[in-house]
Amino acid sequence: MTKISDLLAAGRTSSFEFFPPRTDEGERNLRDTLNELEPLDPSFVSVTYGAGGSTRERTHRIVVDILERTSMTPMAHLTSVAHTRDDLVGILTRYRDAGVENILALRGDPPADGGDATTELRHAIELVELAREVGGDAFSVGVAAHPELHPRSPDRASDRKHLAAKLCAADFGITQFFFRAEDYLRMIDELAELGCDTPVIPGVMPVTDVRQIQRFAELSGAAFPSDLAERFLAVEDDPGAVRQLGVETATELCQRLLDAGVPGLHFYTLNRSTATREIHANLGLSG
Ligand code: FAD
Repeated sequence: MTKISDLLAAGRTSSFEFFPPRTDEGERNLRDTLNELEPLDPSFVSVTYGAGGSTRERTHRIVVDILERTSMTPMAHLTSVAHTRDDLVGILTRYRDAGVENILALRGDPPADGGDATTELRHAIELVELAREVGGDAFSVGVAAHPELHPRSPDRASDRKHLAAKLCAADFGITQFFFRAEDYLRMIDELAELGCDTPVIPGVMPVTDVRQIQRFAELSGAAFPSDLAERFLAVEDDPGAVRQLGVETATELCQRLLDAGVPGLHFYTLNRSTATREIHANLGLSG
């Protein structure tokens, strides 16, 4: 059973996200990280995709490598921006033929220069539909959710309306990282009011570098709450203390989410294993 929809139906999931490294050293580091996290027995692991296709081959290679050489179930991220429909059919067909069963269907961000003339699928929901067309029952298809709204959404109501429609077409969602459990729980309530009960797995990013998280938060539209920022900035000069506080605050967030009955936990690892392993141990999760 390696489709994420089946795993979610069977119980709570735990999953880890990685990005395709650019260098040989990065590749070696990712291999080490995968080896260190495999004993935690994650339900699945995911590999991001560079919008526009910048990691097209690398994402494919790492996903298939995980499928063939480890005991872990991979999920491939795929973005539609700056790709033609034919490009996307080709990429999805290759995954299907390689036996990859899980796809995270995303729009991706437009290129910095704004030029995305080849984009044929305008919204992620169209990629969900294309994945169904190419894969049929072979794929379990997930989508992204933004508890604090997508940064380009003009208002809350339209954000939630499009998110509910996308989740209804998909098998599951995974959220952008956030720091307040209330933001996730409010989103789930709003989706329920719209008749959408597709499972949405919260994404958790343990803070290991304050400035980096502030940058990420700015880009993703997630708030880094000022009380939390203050606690981190007070120990900013001591990397060990920042990491320890990061593990502590992420553990607290995860525990609140678990108490609220979330369908799973998805960890943004940034290709490192230590914080994720410590949080797993604190929570008494499998492994
Ligand atoms: P969409 O669902 O298309 O939404 C984008 C915007 O369009 C929203 O404002 C939405 O409200 C609006 N919208 C949707 N449908 C309609 C409609 N029919 N009419 C009008 N407006 C509409 N990026 C990468 O490049 N690579 C990755 O691997 C990657 N992985 C990610 C993983 C997760 C878990 C998350 C949360 C995000 C990830 N991203 C990744 C970032 C993502 O690509 C960006 O947030 C992107 O800007 C939006 O993608 P989306 O799939 O949410 O788009």
